[in-house]
Formats: sequence, C-alpha cells, structure tokens
Amino acid sequence: MDKVSNWIQQPARDVRIAAKADVVVVGGGPAGLSAALAAARNGAEVILLERYNHLGGLASGGMVLVLDDMWDNHQNEISVRGNCMTMIERMAAMKLAVFPRQNEWGNVPDSCRRWGRWGTFDFHSHETPHPICFAAAFDPDAMKRVALDMVQELGIKLRLHSWFSQTLVEDGKVKGVICDTKSGREAILGDMVIDATGDLDVAASAGAPHTGGNYIMTTVFRLGGVDAEAAERFEREEPQKYAELDRQIKKVLGGSWGYWWLKTPLPGVVWCNCPHMAGLDGLRVEDLTRAEIQGRKHIHALVDFVRGRMPGFENCYLIDVAPQTGVRQTRLLEGEYILTKEDLAQRTRFDDSIARGRDYYMPYRVLLPQRSTTCWWQGVTTP
Ligand SMILES: Cc1cc2nc3c(=O)[nH]c(=O)nc-3n(C[C@H](O)[C@H](O)[C@H](O)COP(=O)(O)OP(=O)(O)OC[C@H]3O[C@@H](n4cnc5c(N)ncnc54)[C@H](O)[C@@H]3O)c2cc1C
Repeated sequence: MDKVSNWIQQPARDVRIAAKADVVVVGGGPAGLSAALAAARNGAEVILLERYNHLGGLASGGMVLVLDDMWDNHQNEISVRGNCMTMIERMAAMKLAVFPRQNEWGNVPDSCRRWGRWGTFDFHSHETPHPICFAAAFDPDAMKRVALDMVQELGIKLRLHSWFSQTLVEDGKVKGVICDTKSGREAILGDMVIDATGDLDVAASAGAPHTGGNYIMTTVFRLGGVDAEAAERFEREEPQKYAELDRQIKKVLGGSWGYWWLKTPLPGVVWCNCPHMAGLDGLRVEDLTRAEIQGRKHIHALVDFVRGRMPGFENCYLIDVAPQTGVRQTRLLEGEYILTKEDLAQRTRFDDSIARGRDYYMPYRVLLPQRSTTCWWQGVTTP
C-alpha cells in the first residue's frame, strides 16, 4: 500500500456469472417489487436482487407502517391501486391491514376520532383535525409474506442476501451488475437493468448524472404492552395535560412528527415514526452508525419516560427497532424531466404519465437520465 495515499489498488479478478435474465431488478422495496411484477406479467424472465433477508424495503424493513395518503381529494377517489392495492387486500384478508372506507373519508368527526391514531389522514391538509383519507395501516411481516407470495406466483427468480456493488457497462450500455455475497462476488447479467435501490446505487455506478440530497433520518421502532384505548381516552378527556406531556416526550425523543405513536393491526402494539435526526448522510457508514447509536439512546430514554408518566404506556416495552435505517433521501437522478413544486400544486398531467400519488402525476421522463445517450434500463437510445 502507498504510505501517503488513502487509496489502495485491487488486482483485477474473474467473477463468476451466477445468473442471467431478460430483466434484472436491483432492490426489493415497493418500487423494485412493482417493476419485477410488471416485467414478469409482460412475459419477461426476471431476477430480483435484494441485500436483506426480506422484501418490502422501507415499508416492511423500515417499519413505515402506514401506506400513506392514496386519496385524490379533488376527485374523491383512490389514486394508487395496482400491486399496492393487491397487497393491501391480501394483508386485510389476514386481518393484518386496516383502512378507512369511502364513507369515512373527510372531516366526519366520528371517523376522525376513530382513525386519527391509525395515521390514515391527509398530512398535507391545514385543517384540524386532518381529514381522514384512503391510506392503510399494516403489519410489516404481513407485507414481507405477501410480497414473497406475489414474487413466487409469477416465477420471479429471487436472490436475497445479494449486495449490489458495481454496474457492468459495455459500450455505454448496462449489461448487468456485480453483487457481493457470502460466497464471494457474483455477476448477474440482464438485457435490462432496473435501479430500485432507492439510493440510485446502480445508476450512479453507471455514471448517470445525479445530485446529492439530504433529509432527516429516523430510527423507527415499535412498542408492545400499550393500552392504546387508555392513552386515547387520556388525550380526549384531558387535552391540556396530554399536550404538556406530549411536549416533554418530544423533547426526550429529540425530533418527531405531531403524532409520535400510531396504532398497528396487532393489539397492544404501536409504532413510532421517530426519533428524527438531521444532518446525517445516508451514504456514509459513519453517519449510518451514528444514527443507530443516537436513535437507540433516544428510544430507551423515551421508554423509561413514558412508563412512569403516560396513561396507557405504564407496561410498555420495546419490541424492535426497524432493521432498515430510515433514510429518506440520498442521490437524486437528474432526469430528462424534473418534477417541480408547481407540477405537484397544479396537478399537471403529462402525455407520458406512468404513476399517480395522492393528487399528482409523474411522467416517465423523470426516470430517464439527462445527457445520456443510452437509456440504461431499457437499452434503447434516447434523443
Ligand atoms: C422513516 C421514514 C418514514 C416514512 N414514512 C412513510 C409513511 O408513513 N408512509 C409512506 O407511504 N411512505 C413513507 N416513507 C417513504 C417510503 O418509505 C418510501 O417512499 C418507499 O419506501 C420508497 O420505495 P423504494 O422501493 O423506492 O425504496 P426502498 O423502500 O428504500 O427500497 C429499496 C430496496 O433496495 C434495497 N437495496 C438498496 N441498496 C441495495 C444494494 N446496494 N444492493 C441490494 N439491495 C439494495 C433495499 O434493501 C430496499 O429493499 C417514509 C420513509 C422513511 C425513511
């Protein structure tokens, strides 16, 4: 090793080709799952690669336990359906997902009281209480199970425990990826490679232009042994006392949304979308490690605090901290089109719309890199 440099050179080595398919999807979160399912339904042979031991990404592994606001309030209709709805229906059939029905949407006082602590409300609204909308609270393991079932039903070749590490590019076209695994490095080849890592790992490795992004990080956790009814009663019947205690709890947490605890389909179990931590980079090992250590300190302090003071939480205990760290933003693709705040506010419709989320639309061009001669996940030349 060069004594003055911080870099070492690795010798070139041969890598075993472990698998080949028409389409290789990297990342088994909501985006990767949908990409793999859609490709398989269209007749492609598909490989789905995932670094962890489960599917669902941040939704299951990150324990983001509300599929948020899928209601277009302007049209009073559900705006997100497809695979997402299939998963919700399957989880609901197992009694492991709940959601408000159409007659409960809006500002109906009874349904605000009933659904508020499930987190199935319109977060963007400035009204108090927030209107109830179509959103689903679910169990993380149910999502992992349903995702696995759907992938297996379509014959998708699943490779878990496979960490993507490098994109294989030949003559400006992506040919496959390299993964690090327990049996060493493996090459997975495909005619199309889809980056669904959430961090743009594959596209960045292929040289696609992108910018850096940063937003709060969260170590989500669940508490068991909670009497949610007693806690809700306290909130309803003694609002001032509740508000004062809530203020103190948020200090202990260090960073939280308005609702620091929400109900889950499991009796006595709540999930906590907190504590938040700012100024950390989701691509740096040092920052990710800090988030885990700092987050757990806040969580343990919170458990001690609420056990002693918060009605309904006297016997609570920590069940788990999400196995996936809650990173909201890292690399952002410089797409051929970049969605603007105005597009969202004006609900702009595009000729090439491929997705909806609450009341906005997304064009296909946001997925295509700028200044690129090759659209790497389609293998077709773009203008
Ligand atoms: C703390 C937090 C709270 C949130 N709250 C909500 C909420 O309440 N409701 C809501 O609807 N949304 C919420 N979101 C947003 C939501 O989680 C994301 O929009 C969604 O998960 C994005 O899906 P995705 O598939 O693009 O990425 P991800 O869910 O991040 O999935 C990416 C997948 O790729 C895998 N992967 C990454 N890198 C590699 C690699 N190198 N090799 C192999 N595999 C890799 C990951 O393990 C993961 O499975 C929240 C996000 C966070 C962090």
